Amino acid sequence: METPVNAAAGDPTESLRTALVERADALYRDVDFNCIREWKLQNGGAKAVGFLPIYAPREIIHAAGMLPVGVLGGGDAVEIVKGDACFQSYICHLPRSVVELGLNGALDCLDGMIFPSTCDVIRNLSGMWQILFPNCYVKYLDMPQNYQNHIGGEFFERELSLLIDDLEKLGGERATPQRLRHSIALYNENRRLVEELYKLRIHAPWTVPSSELYLIVRAGMLLPVEEHNKLCKQYIDAVRASARRPMDMARVVLRGCFCEQPPLDLIKTLERSGCYIVDDDWMIVSRWIDGDVSTEGDPLANLVQAFLQRSPACPSLYLQKGKKGDALVEATRDARAEGVIFSAPSFCDPALLDQPMTLAAVKNAQIPCTSFLFAENTGQFQTIREQAGTFADAIKLS
Ligand code: SF4
Repeated sequence: METPVNAAAGDPTESLRTALVERADALYRDVDFNCIREWKLQNGGAKAVGFLPIYAPREIIHAAGMLPVGVLGGGDAVEIVKGDACFQSYICHLPRSVVELGLNGALDCLDGMIFPSTCDVIRNLSGMWQILFPNCYVKYLDMPQNYQNHIGGEFFERELSLLIDDLEKLGGERATPQRLRHSIALYNENRRLVEELYKLRIHAPWTVPSSELYLIVRAGMLLPVEEHNKLCKQYIDAVRASARRPMDMARVVLRGCFCEQPPLDLIKTLERSGCYIVDDDWMIVSRWIDGDVSTEGDPLANLVQAFLQRSPACPSLYLQKGKKGDALVEATRDARAEGVIFSAPSFCDPALLDQPMTLAAVKNAQIPCTSFLFAENTGQFQTIREQAGTFADAIKLS
């Protein structure tokens, strides 16, 4: 399935762009994590630490001389056999495919796994991991829900300090303040580049198809940050030189995919049905902190402050009533979007518990919206295509 683009014949930037997207696509399809094995070989057996969605302090793992690896599930490429046996039918798909990847050996290359307190499913998966893989370092990373400095701030700083100690014991370097500042600077650059990509898409979505943006950003879940920064820069340069022309499509914001990821073909389906996705929440770890983390002073305290003060309005976080709805309306206006598509994974408690509140805020703001559910291994898109196509047509005709 291809995304429709309106490229000028003979545009030389198209071949460079194709090469970059193909590289990112190969990483997307690397469900055996061979790229991580190669990285370890090339780096003298250095360690790699996986993390589940939605947030992990990648700066700390990097400062320990290790490779942070985003474990986002198996998508539509992994057949679930053993994973299904571990879970009841009424939970989302992500933990099934993560267990499958673990039991089929794909994740053997990871020396540790971090399970953030995203939801009960991921919290419980951390316990399962300890039983299933006793030789793997497992960290349940409890993120603060109280954002006051003397409560949530102190708690989170202690959590992160323990992680630094653990990674050193696991054979990594000590994440000293100096090393941390260096890593923070690299991830600041990464966030700036990803943000630039998102801004380019808002400005001219026909030059940045979401199916391409998704792959380029997702490559950062596997590549070292230094390499991902280069990839983003090259892609941004290709976009800036692009001669692609606009098509008659509706501008929409997509919400609900912050944890379990939509299959790439679902993103392409939305584009083919006439939607320019101009904002989304997939792989939200890439955009977690709004702006830079300071590299002055105490880097650990800076990471904590950035988390407390500049985290996104994500369903997994507790925010005062009304704030998430306001944030979505504001994001829709900032992206000059004409509608919102709520697209949550089936049985995703955080997304589906938030949805009535954010939906009400969007309706109050008189922004057109629609919703559907997906699973990472959804394979039939005809119904979604018809629904999204009708939604895009209704926006264009209004
Ligand atoms: S998709 Fe939703 S319910 Fe499932 S693990 Fe992620 S946050 Fe939890």
